[in-house]
Amino acid sequence: MIIAIKRGAGAAEVEAFSALLEKRGVGVHLSRGTGQTVLGLVGDTTAIDAETLLAHHLVEKVIRVQEPYKRANRLFHPDDTRIEVEVPGGFRRVGGGCLGVMAGPCSVENRDQIVAVARAVKEAGAGFLRGGAFKPRTSPYSFQGLGPEGLDLLVEAKKETGLPIVTELMDIHHLELFEDVDIIQVGARNMQNFTLLRELGRGGKPVLLKRGYASTITELLMAAEYVMSGGNSRIILCERGIRSFDPYTRNTLDLSAVPALKRQSHLPVIVDPSHATGLAWMVPAMAKAALAAGADGLIIEVHNNPEAALCDGEQSITPEVFASLMGTLRKIAAIEGKTIEGKTL
Ligand code: PEP
Ligand code: MN
Repeated sequence: MIIAIKRGAGAAEVEAFSALLEKRGVGVHLSRGTGQTVLGLVGDTTAIDAETLLAHHLVEKVIRVQEPYKRANRLFHPDDTRIEVEVPGGFRRVGGGCLGVMAGPCSVENRDQIVAVARAVKEAGAGFLRGGAFKPRTSPYSFQGLGPEGLDLLVEAKKETGLPIVTELMDIHHLELFEDVDIIQVGARNMQNFTLLRELGRGGKPVLLKRGYASTITELLMAAEYVMSGGNSRIILCERGIRSFDPYTRNTLDLSAVPALKRQSHLPVIVDPSHATGLAWMVPAMAKAALAAGADGLIIEVHNNPEAALCDGEQSITPEVFASLMGTLRKIAAIEGKTIEGKTL
């Protein structure tokens, strides 16, 4: 971090300011030019807030040369992080050459539905079962999910198929219900729910962190940093589309976020083509594009009867379309030198 000091500042007050900064655990290099004095801060500057510094009467300008996130930064962790989830007889992995494919309905509706979809996606080669029990809906009158009963049904589907489960946690008070959940999803609307992030940082379960629809790449990485700063590094980032001006698609899939996030961070990055487009017919094309862009996996909504779905039927693909898509995804994975873990047909 570089701090430009205002012209005319006295040497003594600059020295005092440097000493103040040093007390905060960083090294300070002072360079005095003919007209300009500059302080170079070295060491861990993540806890130093540029905006706060700007409020100081001596400070003219602050330039960050390093990103404000440290634990999520590839700079300090050059190798790809791989998230492992234990399954009977082994592990399912996401990242570091392993593609995680998570598939299932938007929301758990009843036992027959979740078990049937779980069986179908497993048969097609998915590695994880997705399904919402607590649903963040725009309207309070829409189906809100089955809640705890939905979690029980997911666990039943897991027992039937062996597929590890990923489901959204909306309220930290529900955390104790999530004991049998393998990956805890933080939805787009909660990406900056800092209380939730901090609490998940204290736990050890993998977190699927979805990008907020108006959040920048840096904000997503700072959200990951919240979880990591608590000691939990098991995070999977997810690009799920951002708000743009064109209502043709539900959101705009920012595929450039994939290489950007992978350049900035060592954490695995997956893509959700379902919420990104809102259109079932567009999902296969975007899923393929995501793997070609270097994604470490996908989360896809699959429903056995999309027309009757209680949530997001218009963007849900059928098990048949999913099975056919998986065939193509395996070929793309092979070209990329990666593997999709799950039952192979
Ligand atoms: C979901 O995956 O069910 C969901 C609600 O996604 P998002 O938070 O990305 O909207
Ligand atoms: Mn959905």
